[in-house]
Amino acid sequence: MKATIALLSGDGIGPEVVGHARMMLAAVAEKFGHEFTFREALFGDIATDKGGEPLPLETIRICEESDAVLMGAVGGPSGGTQWSSDKPRPRPEQGLLDLRAHFKCFANLRPVRVFPVLAGGSPLKAELLHDVDILFIRELTGGAYFGPRKEAGADGDEAFDTMLYTTPEIRRVAKVAFEAAQRRKQKLTSVDKANVLASSRLWRRVVESMKPEYPDVTVEHALVDSFAMQMLRTPDRYDVVVAENMFGDILTDESAVLAGSLGMLPSASIGEGKFGLYEPIHGSAPDIAGKGIANPSGTILSGALLLRYSLGLEREARAIESAVETALRNGGRTADIAAPGETPVGSGLFANMVREALAKPSISIDE
Ligand code: NAD
Repeated sequence: MKATIALLSGDGIGPEVVGHARMMLAAVAEKFGHEFTFREALFGDIATDKGGEPLPLETIRICEESDAVLMGAVGGPSGGTQWSSDKPRPRPEQGLLDLRAHFKCFANLRPVRVFPVLAGGSPLKAELLHDVDILFIRELTGGAYFGPRKEAGADGDEAFDTMLYTTPEIRRVAKVAFEAAQRRKQKLTSVDKANVLASSRLWRRVVESMKPEYPDVTVEHALVDSFAMQMLRTPDRYDVVVAENMFGDILTDESAVLAGSLGMLPSASIGEGKFGLYEPIHGSAPDIAGKGIANPSGTILSGALLLRYSLGLEREARAIESAVETALRNGGRTADIAAPGETPVGSGLFANMVREALAKPSISIDE
C-alpha cells in the first residue's frame, strides 16, 4: 500500500523519538512491501521560534494532505537549545488543542499493556500486573479543557472553568468505546462523578441509554475517585474504560505506573474517519532532551497504532508490538525502565534492537 505520513516532531525529545519511530515505519514498509512517504512539519515551540505560532498553516496543510500524523510532544526548548525571545509566547499546548479540533479528533485511545518482562519494574506487585490489558478511551474535545465555547475566567481571588458536555458528544465517544469492547472482552467501564456533577449525570444517562444497542457488552459505571484507587488494586479486571476529558487525562497518566514508565505508552486520537493523530503519552521531557537516553517505545508503539487504525495494517501493527516485546525480552532497557544495577542502553541502541527483532524471520509476513 502507498501512504503519506506527516511527522510533527515537536519539542524536547520529540525529534529523537519521532526519528526512531520513522525508521521503524520505514523498516515495516520494506519488510511488508509498502511505500510510505514521510513529510516533516513544524509544530510546538520550535514552530513559534521559526514563524511565530505553534501550529503554522503550512503544518495543517501537510497534515490534511497526509493519511495520518505521527507526533512528538510540544513544550519547552528543543534539544537543550534556549528559546529565542523573552516576548510573551503563544502556549504550545494551544497548537495541540487546535490540531485536535481542526481534525475533529474527539476520541483518544490509550492502550495500557504491561509487557511481562517489565512487570517486576513496576512499583506495584508483579502478580497484579500479568494480565493487564486496558484500553482507555478519553473524550478529547469537550469538558473543562476545551473549546471556543469554553467559559473560564479569573478575577482577582476568583477563577472558574466550565465542564460542559452535550448528548451527541457523549454518544460519539461512547460508541467508539462500545465498539472497541465488542472487539475485545465485551466489558466497558464508564468513569464519571455522577454523585456530584451534572455533566457526569448526563454522561451516565447517555451511556446507559446505549446499552440496548450493544447487548453483548457488559457495562459498569465507576466514580472517578474510587476508580483511581481500584485501577491500582485490581488493574487486571478492566477491559475498555471510557471517561470524559479531564478524568481521562489524569487516569491515563496514573496508568503509566502499571506499564513501568511514561515512555512506554502510545496513544491514538481519532474522529469519524480513518485519519488520526498518533503520539506517545509523555511530554517533551526537556530534562533529558538531546542526551540520547529517551525511551522511544511509546512513539514506536504509536506508529503501530497508526498502522492499525489509519491504514488498516493489523499484521504490521502486531509485528511492531512484538518486536518491541522481543527487544525488551532480549534485555533492552532504556534508563527509565532499567532495574537498579542494570546497565541501560541509549535510545538509538534500543531502537536498533527493535528493528533487528522486526527483521528476524520469526516475525514473518506469513504470520
Ligand atoms: P514529561 O512527560 O515530559 O516528563 C515527565 C518525566 O518523565 C521526566 O522526568 C521525563 O524525563 C520523563 N520522561 C518522559 N518521557 C520519557 C521518555 N520517553 N523516556 C524516558 N523518560 C521520559 O512531563 P512534564 O515534565 O510534566 O512536561 C514537560 C513538557 O512537556 C512541558 O512543557 C509540558 O507542557 C509538555 N507536555 C506536552 C504534552 C503533549 O504535547 N502532548 C504532554 C505532556 C506534557
